Amino acid sequence: MARANNPAILGECAYCPVPGTTKDHIPPQTIYAKGTQNKPWVPACRRCNGGASKDDEYMQRLAMLSGAEASKDAQAVEERFMRAIQRKEAKGLQADTFASLSKQTPEQELLFPGGINMALQGERLGRITDKLVRGWWYKLSNGLKIPAEHSIMKYTLGDRKNTNPLYDFNEQEIGKCPGFFSGDYAFSMQMAYCPNSQLTCWRFIFFKVFGIMAYTCRKHEAGFDILNLRKPYSVIDYND
Ligand SMILES: [Zn+2]
Repeated sequence: MARANNPAILGECAYCPVPGTTKDHIPPQTIYAKGTQNKPWVPACRRCNGGASKDDEYMQRLAMLSGAEASKDAQAVEERFMRAIQRKEAKGLQADTFASLSKQTPEQELLFPGGINMALQGERLGRITDKLVRGWWYKLSNGLKIPAEHSIMKYTLGDRKNTNPLYDFNEQEIGKCPGFFSGDYAFSMQMAYCPNSQLTCWRFIFFKVFGIMAYTCRKHEAGFDILNLRKPYSVIDYND
């Protein structure tokens, strides 16, 4: 059946070279309390925007992480999410969610009384982070895409401390950069870059507690070129 109206084109899709007719929120808007204003988004085609509902659910589960209740958004999202998994249709989601939860260690219990641990699904988290980096690159560059010979490397904050001191240093340093914040710190982001090499370093924090580090680097035979924040780099002023 033909559609009566063609949907308006909002710009080129942030992830592929076709017209974008939908708003793709970066991060998914399910992580905010109802009524949150100014949720960041980019244009996306239906294909790139669709099929992410499992990822959205996954993001909601971050609201159940130990310590997340310090964010008002996390409280609202957790209530909404817990109501959603009570529904009969959500049996699979319920089993999946409860299977991913475990008791805290005694040390964690001291820090976050009554909190719970959540097993993180690496692949899903990787896909979500990829979209965040590609989406924000597009947004900050007014419609450019990450060069084809670059790739995105990501890990959860603090996970690489013993492999290379540069990661550790960068994790400290990027925390001092200007940032973008939305909701009650449901999402915060900091980014540093080198204008010449186009290497970038990103830090995303959800609900004040859960952090992801990401880099975009050139791929070459020896591996990656990581942006070294000891050397001069540029930052973005999000208040401009
Ligand atoms: Zn697309």
